[in-house]
Amino acid sequence: MTVWLNIHTEREIMPVLEVLARAKINLTLDITGLLPDGYHELETVMQSIALCDRLFFSLRPQGIEFQTDSPLVPAGPENLVYRAAELLQRVTGCRRGVHIFLSKNIPVAAGLGGGSADAAATLAALNQLWSLGLDRGELIDLGAKLGADVPFCLTGGTVLARGKGELLTPLKPLPPVGVVMVTPPLAVSTAQIYRAYDRLLPGVHPDTAAMVAAVERRDIPAVAARLGNILEPVTTALYPQVSAVKAALKAAGPLGVVMSGSGPTVFGLCRDEEEACRVAGRLDPGLGRILHTRFCDHALKLAVIDGSR
Ligand code: ATP
Repeated sequence: MTVWLNIHTEREIMPVLEVLARAKINLTLDITGLLPDGYHELETVMQSIALCDRLFFSLRPQGIEFQTDSPLVPAGPENLVYRAAELLQRVTGCRRGVHIFLSKNIPVAAGLGGGSADAAATLAALNQLWSLGLDRGELIDLGAKLGADVPFCLTGGTVLARGKGELLTPLKPLPPVGVVMVTPPLAVSTAQIYRAYDRLLPGVHPDTAAMVAAVERRDIPAVAARLGNILEPVTTALYPQVSAVKAALKAAGPLGVVMSGSGPTVFGLCRDEEEACRVAGRLDPGLGRILHTRFCDHALKLAVIDGSR
């Protein structure tokens, strides 16, 4: 899959920009109201994790060429990567081209923000590759047009996000806490879960202020005790399998367990990744895709992997 990385023309080797785009989990997720345009008003403490997709960008004279190794995401203009590149061309008038390869590792439609991470990676990489000179605020405004989690994915670390997800307050970075994740084989539509939330009685609101205080104290047992997601009862009502996965994960002994985003991924927190690996080993592989990872203090990592010209 790496053949195209060394793209020789007669006179030059094209520079290739590699970006690691980190997934996210929601330590808390709350809905605090409805905005005038009908969107849900969110309050969520988001955390970057080391699990990532890899994207490779190389300049072309014109056009957007996109390839991916995943059969689970759109291979053409509907992919968030393609849409991010197109949006940048439209708003900046830039006519330069790019070839983008997406190596997918983050489970898809799983509540882990994979598409948003890829969109954020594309905005940041093309800002550099096309020398657009956009500042962080401008990238965040563009990101918000692509998806609610994109602004966070441009920022990363531990962040309190409000509004539609674009009002970001960075919190104190946490140590590399271990995370064990189980993604049952269900493709959950975020839009479907929000529609179902509107029909159901309101659930239990997580205590966001207490979570923020625990983060600021870097008190990991308190963070684990405050995990909460108002969408969890909605997703579990539609997909009871998610409750079974949560019960199995809880029984395997992490510090605390909750569903991420609109699901179906359920994660548990552990002291470190070694412990997360041990917890993962106690789980029945039949539950779904089981991964272990750790908290990460950033969302994107950019590197020129072949810059000789
Ligand atoms: P969200 O909560 O934002 O919907 P999620 O983490 O639950 O995100 P994603 O993995 O981002 O789920 O996928 C959501 C949808 O976006 C999928 O239906 C997928 O087909 C589509 N999509 C478009 N581009 C991508 C991409 N690069 N990676 C993942 N999904 C993508």
